[in-house]
Amino acid sequence: MKVLRKIIEIDDEKCDGCGNCVPSCAEGAIQIVNGKARVISDKYCDGLGACLGECPRDALHIVEREAEEFDEAAVHELLKQQAQAEKSTGQRKPAMTGGCPSAALKTFSDTSCDCANQPRVTGSGGPSALGHWPVQIRLVPAGAPFLKDADLVIAADCVPVAYPSFHRDFLAGKAVMIGCPKFDDTQGYVDKLTDVFKKSGIKSITAVIMEVPCCSGLPHIIQKALENSGMDIPFSQVTISARGEILS
Ligand code: SF4
Ligand code: SF4
Repeated sequence: MKVLRKIIEIDDEKCDGCGNCVPSCAEGAIQIVNGKARVISDKYCDGLGACLGECPRDALHIVEREAEEFDEAAVHELLKQQAQAEKSTGQRKPAMTGGCPSAALKTFSDTSCDCANQPRVTGSGGPSALGHWPVQIRLVPAGAPFLKDADLVIAADCVPVAYPSFHRDFLAGKAVMIGCPKFDDTQGYVDKLTDVFKKSGIKSITAVIMEVPCCSGLPHIIQKALENSGMDIPFSQVTISARGEILS
């Protein structure tokens, strides 16, 4: 049965068949056919857009149209077939099974005794302050429990790489969403954040962006979503230099 829903669209003109998007689709929905990426059947594409950030040519977009419903059972069958083909040919296929792991919400808490007595995962930069999963704007549901009454950090994708103490200085005790205003679906972000601001009782918003001009799109997206939501939420902005310093 066909329904109106979100689904990936591939721009043939832009696609050069590099194949970067293929392993990023946990559903195995994208394959390279005659030198171009193709969604092999609408029923395999969940429309969440995990592949979007992988295309170097901006050929992947989410659209809303009439399409066959997403069929999880068919995806399991497809992944099984792909795994068998991988075994017999020795060629690499998508390794993930059972749907996109980032679709499973996780909240990390230090409050239980069990948790408190476990060693934290640490690197030389100190303990992780991340309190939930997923973090990508397009993957976080507007009604996610970790957004309820949260102080929200919305960071550009490059920030955690550029700024060495991102966890310590920005994440502790806060919810976080990340995205790239240059490469991602701007209108999709406005719509998602509008929904978040309407539903979640967000207490404050901090945008953390890079100094480059393309990154200034993120505060604009947030402002637009605030306007659309009609909510009055305190909003501040931090700008990080490419050398990892706070500029303002
Ligand atoms: S990553 Fe982009 S350019 Fe490469 S195959 Fe996929 S859609 Fe085409
Ligand atoms: S807009 Fe540019 S600087 Fe900002 S996250 Fe995207 S690529 Fe990085």
